[in-house]
Order: sequence, then C-alpha cells, then structure tokens
Amino acid sequence: MQTQTLERMESNVRTYSRSFPVVFTKAMNARLTDETGREYIDFLAGAGTLNYGHNNPHLKQALLDYLASDGIVHGLDFWTAAKRDYLETLEEVILKPRGLDYKIQLPGPTGTNAVEAAIRLARVAKGRHNIVTFTNGFHGVTMGSLATTGNRKFREATGGIPLQGAAFMPYDGYLGENTDTLDYFEKLLADKSGGLDTPAAVIIETVQGEGGINVAGLEWLKRLEQICRANDILLIVDDIQAGCGRTGKFFSFEHAGITPDIVTNSKSLSGFGLPFAHVLMRPDLDKWKPGQYNGTFRGFNLAFATAAAAMRQYWSDDTFERDVQRKGEIVAERFQKIAAWLTERGIKATERGRGLMRGIDVGSGDIADKITGKAFENGLVIETSGQDGEVVKCLCPLTIPDEDLQQGLDILEESVKQVIT
Ligand code: PLP
Repeated sequence: MQTQTLERMESNVRTYSRSFPVVFTKAMNARLTDETGREYIDFLAGAGTLNYGHNNPHLKQALLDYLASDGIVHGLDFWTAAKRDYLETLEEVILKPRGLDYKIQLPGPTGTNAVEAAIRLARVAKGRHNIVTFTNGFHGVTMGSLATTGNRKFREATGGIPLQGAAFMPYDGYLGENTDTLDYFEKLLADKSGGLDTPAAVIIETVQGEGGINVAGLEWLKRLEQICRANDILLIVDDIQAGCGRTGKFFSFEHAGITPDIVTNSKSLSGFGLPFAHVLMRPDLDKWKPGQYNGTFRGFNLAFATAAAAMRQYWSDDTFERDVQRKGEIVAERFQKIAAWLTERGIKATERGRGLMRGIDVGSGDIADKITGKAFENGLVIETSGQDGEVVKCLCPLTIPDEDLQQGLDILEESVKQVIT
C-alpha cells in the first residue's frame, strides 16, 4: 500500500490514520475495504456519523436523484425546495410525533459549529455569559466549544489563550455511585458566596461519547431539567454523537422524558456522512437579529436531501428504533461477558452504555490500545474513548446486519483473549 505521500504531506495533527494505517477505497454499510481488497467490520462508523451505514442505498439514491435534477447544491441560506422539504419532514416525522416545537438554525456544518451557535444563542437570549458544562464533556475544539470541553489535551492546544465563559460541574457518577452530583450544583446556585456566576445555560451530553461512554441516569437528567427551570437557566442537550437514533431513540433525551430548550445535532444528521448540523431552539429563544450569526455554508442542500430521505426511511414508525434497542442488548450482553472475563483475570472491567452507544472500560489506555490494535489486525475497526482512552467503544452503524455484528463481536472477544494471555 502506498502511504508515503500521505505520511509526508498530511499534518502531524492527523489521528485515526495512526490507529488504522491502511488506505481505504470502498465501503458498504458496516464494511470497509482497503486498497489490497481486505475487508474490515466497522465499529467506528465515522465516530457516530454513519448511523445508517456507509453508502446507504436509499440515501445514495436520494442524493443521485437530487444531483441528476440539477437541484441547488450551494445556496448560502437561500430558500430552496430541498430546505423546505427537510424542514417539513423534520416537523412531520420527528418533532410533531414527539410533541416538540422548535425553530431551526442552520449554522456551519460541523458539530462544533452547532455548539458555538447554541451557546452564543443562550448568551444572547439570557444576557449572561456563563455556561455550565460537565466533567468529561466533549463539545468540540473551536474556542467557545472548547471552553466547555473537559479534556486537557485539547484545552492545552490554544497557544495560551484562556478559555472563558464556562464552569464545570461533576457529571452523574463522577463522585461515585452514592453521591448525587446535582446536590453540589444546586447548592452552588443557591449560595450567594458559592462563586458560580448565574449561568445562561447548562450544556450536557446524556451519554458522553468522547468522555468515555458515561451514561447519565434518567432521574438525574429529570432533576437537572427541574434545576434549570427553577433557576431560569436554559438546558442545551448536545446530541451530536448520541442523537439520530444512536441510543435507540431519535433524540437521546427522549429516554428521560425531558424537553431541552436548545438541541444540537450533527454527525449522523445528513445520514450519508455529508457535513451538516442544525440547532433546535424553543421558538421564543430566537433572539437573533437577521444575519447576526452567519457563515457561507449554512445548510447544505445535498444534506437536506439525504437527511429528509433518512427520516422518511427510518423514522416514520418505531420499527427501526426497536431494532436498534435489540442490537444494543446483543452488544451489551457480549460486552458484559468480555468485561467479566477480564475481571476474572485481574483486569477490573465494566460494560456501560445506552442503545448502540456502548463501551467496555478496561481501566487503562494501554490495555485498551492493545485490544483495539489487535482487533484491527484481525479485521475490526474500533476505537477508544475516555480521559486516558481506557474505554473500548462500539459505535457500529445502526443498520449493521446481525451477521456482521456477531462477527465484529467475535473478533473483539478473540482479540481480547489474544492480548490478555
Ligand atoms: N459534541 C459532541 C457530543 C461530540 O461528540 C462532538 C464530536 O465528537 C462534537 C460536539 C464536535 O463535533 P465536530 O467534531 O463535528 O466539530
């Protein structure tokens, strides 16, 4: 495989090609093919961007039809037929059946663009600067989002510019099973000498993806919503990784029965892996003046076409979400077995997750790296997350066929056994 040009020309900042140093050429659903023709099962799926698999045929057809019709590809934020269809489908298929009423902002196409817009909107709407975020939270690496991101490696890469406007609270479970971390948040809010500037908003992932598949309890999330309401603080759910069906519901917060004031989606929103993001906001929060927050790539018409097709194909009834939950249970069961096997051999390991967003915490980044490295040798693309990369995580396409899912899990189990002899 020819990798010299890639190694020579691409910046040192590259990441995933270090873990998977082959040249990929093709992909279909949960399988990737490299230049030599070798196939891999994909448990990474664009870090949660390919929930409907690589080159999903329904979405590819929608894209090809749109291109063949000479539909508008770039139109700044012009009104286009594709945008109208996207908004109508979002309203009819996703929002109305869930009793949700949101206005939609189309920021730049990445997750961090959506987070920047969401926290800026909260600040404008409330006239306060502070955003409460949580330990191990990951919300992107541009300056505003980075201020709400916990990971030191990313925070240190600002060239010394201070990250401002955010305060960290302990996530659910951060202080052990027996401590409700919201007691601390609530106490600080009530304490005039607690040092916490009244926040405009709280931003939270209901399941932390990059932070190590940490799962917030449903009661905890309900209490967080109540605290926000009682203190006139906006609740932003960052559903960039956990949304679009990953946890078994379209929005991850549906499990808790809460209604965020603002929601961010990106990653799997286009369905096809096209760059695309939106911010959902309670209608009365739409305090923007025309053009006050802009950008050249606001809404991507090709993504409108594929995203609308994805919603129609997978979310018109509950068949798909039930299937995701079923597959999630298969992964959970196998992960529990692997964790128990490791624990019996002196490596304390635990399984956790919601839906098809699951991980095994093996307690050490070194061990997790060895496992994922061996898995790649054996034909499985799988990554780690957590503060030291100690969690082996499964983000396989939600559309993965059962045989591929079993094969991927078999490879993982076999790799664990080869590494821990
Ligand atoms: N928010 C969450 C929850 C994420 O998981 C990510 C990326 O992993 C982001 C924001 C940032 O998205 P992007 O990498 O597209 O900027």
